[in-house]
Amino acid sequence: MSNLLLEEMTWPEIKTALDNGFNKVIIPSGSIEQHGPHLAQLSDTVIAEASAVDLAKRLGKTLVAPVIRPGLSDHHLSLPGTISLRPEIFSGLIEDYINSYKNHGFKQFIMISSHGGNFSALDEIASKLSQKHPNLKFVTGLSLQDLLDLISSMEADENMPEGACGGHACDYETSVLLYLFPQHVRMDKARAGYVGKPTREVLDQIYKGGIAAVSETGVLGNPCYAKAERGRRYFEKEQETLFKTVKEKLNEQ
Ligand SMILES: [Zn+2]
Repeated sequence: MSNLLLEEMTWPEIKTALDNGFNKVIIPSGSIEQHGPHLAQLSDTVIAEASAVDLAKRLGKTLVAPVIRPGLSDHHLSLPGTISLRPEIFSGLIEDYINSYKNHGFKQFIMISSHGGNFSALDEIASKLSQKHPNLKFVTGLSLQDLLDLISSMEADENMPEGACGGHACDYETSVLLYLFPQHVRMDKARAGYVGKPTREVLDQIYKGGIAAVSETGVLGNPCYAKAERGRRYFEKEQETLFKTVKEKLNEQ
């Protein structure tokens, strides 16, 4: 099958896929939020879809649900354009996706996010739904801590200065976007933001006080030296790790 996006398929194509054992669905979530002066608001959303399609190919017999475009982004609301969903709307959307798909025969639901703010909500939704539907499987991707550790190890592997991959509109995210969707990057506007270590404490400060508490431009990291070729390596490494994690979680349950 060449197209794995459910929203681009017809119902008979989806039925044939189900008959052929495609019983896994990835539900990607992103965000529509400020990404500094140099990346478009939909950055997480387009990365989430690309990541889901790549993961679906690696897993096999897996389709991809329409991306949930806005996410939980209260901490970015101080800058224009950001949309943030109420947590109950976000979880309600995912639950309604699942209520619809489970009646068609899908049995395994993989919830991933390219936006850190969605991670803990996804874990809660997965555990709630696992109790509600014991005959179905619900798994999430990397934990926020796993992702932060992965980004800082990739930063070191690439010999980037510490803090360049701060986690938001940084060298990592800007390079990935330059690789996947360069049309959404304005490199001439890229400036360094907060370049300290993105520790748990700093993240808590951001989630409580908003991004402006640490960075005026909304950037965590330094995007000035971003390169598409490095973005390809970042993306592939992250996808390998995501695939391994999801595969293990699917086998565990
Ligand atoms: Zn982002």
